[in-house]
Amino acid sequence: MPFSYPFIVGTQTSASMTRSLQTVRWMAVLVLACTIGCVCAYSQTAAKSTTAAGTINDPALDARVDAILRKMTLEEKVGQLVQYSAGQPTGPGTGRSDYDDMVAKGQVSSFLNVIDPHQINAYQRIAMEKTRLHIPLLFSLDVLHGFRTDFPIPLGLASTWDPSIVEKAAQVAAMESSADGIRWTFSPMVDIARDARWGRIAEGSGEDPFLGSAMAAAYVRGYQGERLDAPDSIAACAKHFVGYGAAEAGRDYNSTEISEHTLRQYYLPPFHAAVDTGIASVMSAFNSLNGIPSTANPFTLKQVLRNEWRFKGLVVSDWDSIGELIPHGVAIDGEAAARKAFLAGVDMDMVSSLYHDHLPQIVKSGQATQAELDNAVRHVLRLKMALGLFERPFVDEAAAPKALFHPASLELSQTAAERSFVLLKNEPGRDGKKLLPLSEAPQNIAVIGPLGDDATYPNGAPDWMGPRVGLTAALIQRIGQAHVSRFKGSGVLDGTDAEIADAVSGAPKADLVILALGESIDMSGEAGSRAHLGLPGRQQELLEKVVATGKPVVLILFSGRPLTLPWAFEHVPTVMEAWFPGTLGGPALVRTLFGDATPSGKLVVTWPRAVGQEPLYYNHLSTGRPPGNVDLTHPPTDAASRYVSRYIDEQDSPQFPFGYGESYTTFSYGATSISTQRMSAKALNQNLNGAAAMTAEADVTNSGSRRGDEVVQLYIRLQGTSIAEPVRALKGFQTITLAPSETRHVKFELKPEAFAFWNDHQHFAAEPSKVTVWISPDSAHGTPADAEIVP
Ligand code: BGC
Repeated sequence: MPFSYPFIVGTQTSASMTRSLQTVRWMAVLVLACTIGCVCAYSQTAAKSTTAAGTINDPALDARVDAILRKMTLEEKVGQLVQYSAGQPTGPGTGRSDYDDMVAKGQVSSFLNVIDPHQINAYQRIAMEKTRLHIPLLFSLDVLHGFRTDFPIPLGLASTWDPSIVEKAAQVAAMESSADGIRWTFSPMVDIARDARWGRIAEGSGEDPFLGSAMAAAYVRGYQGERLDAPDSIAACAKHFVGYGAAEAGRDYNSTEISEHTLRQYYLPPFHAAVDTGIASVMSAFNSLNGIPSTANPFTLKQVLRNEWRFKGLVVSDWDSIGELIPHGVAIDGEAAARKAFLAGVDMDMVSSLYHDHLPQIVKSGQATQAELDNAVRHVLRLKMALGLFERPFVDEAAAPKALFHPASLELSQTAAERSFVLLKNEPGRDGKKLLPLSEAPQNIAVIGPLGDDATYPNGAPDWMGPRVGLTAALIQRIGQAHVSRFKGSGVLDGTDAEIADAVSGAPKADLVILALGESIDMSGEAGSRAHLGLPGRQQELLEKVVATGKPVVLILFSGRPLTLPWAFEHVPTVMEAWFPGTLGGPALVRTLFGDATPSGKLVVTWPRAVGQEPLYYNHLSTGRPPGNVDLTHPPTDAASRYVSRYIDEQDSPQFPFGYGESYTTFSYGATSISTQRMSAKALNQNLNGAAAMTAEADVTNSGSRRGDEVVQLYIRLQGTSIAEPVRALKGFQTITLAPSETRHVKFELKPEAFAFWNDHQHFAAEPSKVTVWISPDSAHGTPADAEIVP
């Protein structure tokens, strides 16, 4: 391995491994204590001042940027708008590779996918020594959920409902990647995703704009720190602007049709929150939005982003999304594609090379102005300057490995994993007892399933990633090799009769079976859309045969999305969703299975029963014919009740609602009470960002027998408005920790903007309406409190 790693596997002796694991456990206590101590309530997205020194908006950058700009030739300016991938490609190839020469000629501004600090310095040396103006290169990468220390996938991180964990994870990612010379990440992905078929649902924070905005801001704070020019800060990039998550039929790269109302109310807010938090860059998306590709869309890129939000950072295209304007059908050749993207507001061309090829001529011919070109170059230079690259272009190659895998980083990754797990079901088994947490009494456990080792990379992690600890290794560590048997049972996508038979005959020899099933990580993410959301390969067969042995089964699901598993949810009493949990996913799972950690994660996406329900999301509109109580178990009783909005072959409700997640303890909620029953729309609108207009309160009691964390949620509904509002909208959440029998009086402050929405005139305002407020454990429960907004 090219770096020192403080921990684990292969060649290490079991004694040193035990010591290391103990360190890890000890550190976990510290991190957990800190996390719990720092819990804060989110009832509004807090935007920080974005004009401060060290941010992209620092006015002091202007004069320095203009001084360089005055010296630049047309070609040098265009060179600053060009980015290439000089490493493992993350999209279809675009054919250029004479990078040394191109850098020396000032034709390259930025590289992505170079991860070797030595190579980074080599390119940088060419830029600093051979180019006329010595403008440094900016190195970038998809650092999505950690760099070398791997955190749970973003969907898992969001399931913690804890922006402080997300912020700290992003800090670790920034520390590790900046030490490597990477100062720009293409993260966070803040696309709202309402459809589990879309593979990239795994990369974001789920379906809700309020939670998504809190997470977006947390990522930005974590990556960018207080100052971008701190050596361990990196620039963040909000992607994919915009509407990418609404890809029709959940198929990646597909078109989207989103009304302006829906765009502003649901898809734009997390981007706006990122901009308000000072994000340095935004990526234009692949998808077309109402017929106009996002990479050529002046309404979103200029009107919304620049004019309305006053964004001063850099807009980069997605991978070849400028070239893709041709297959989209809005450009007939490369020149037209470059012109359309540039005039729409895309500053930097990621890999298509079309700016390099055509922008000089586009400017010379007057199709784009010098001022427009200067403006785009300013955005690039401003970012490089804000990052301190002109002062410190090189990375300390010897120091780079020292930033990786700090014990505290590993601890945070483990804690984040523990907090990300969502306990979907933990019902008493045949003996009347719940299986989880597992008893400490000696027992033999069989781990069955293709994901029982390193779930994320069942065929071995990429070597740049560093070792990981999977479920079986961690379980052996806990209860000893003699008590653990391991059967693969099947592959993720394939499996033989012999493998299944082996597992089925092994199960009865154990006291308990842990089934580790699901997807491999490449079945979600980019180009990972699925039309079927069940267990792939022969895993359903494996599941049913193992359950048929009669042994108690704990099913752990690994996936980048909710899976439709009606059989499992009916027949397996204990099911936990583990997402892809990162470097220490195994220890995190084992600590959770044995109750050292109590699950507190809650779903940030609605869990469907069947693919046919998608897109499925909690904050949907009502219809003129809501189904009421009519469903498969309460079928229509007369002709009139047949004609309601429902399926005749599937329940209307989801398998699990947004916000749902169980614990080893139970929580009971008292009634919601509110501080006022009457507010005035005029007063709310005069002071939209002002102090709380209403407080909402409820008692929450730990009614079980274990200490536990509970994510308490606040939802509202508005009725009587100029445009239909969703049946519920999240407006607050907070995590509380309660000892058995303890009651906490939970209070939310709702600012005027909580009651505002994008109305029928595209204004963000409150209107006279009926207001319903719930404080609840998820989006489907809670007792309502009613108020009204008068004119
Ligand atoms: C993805 C982006 C990513 C880029 C660079 C594209 O294919 O859509 O999310 O940042 O590649 O790897």
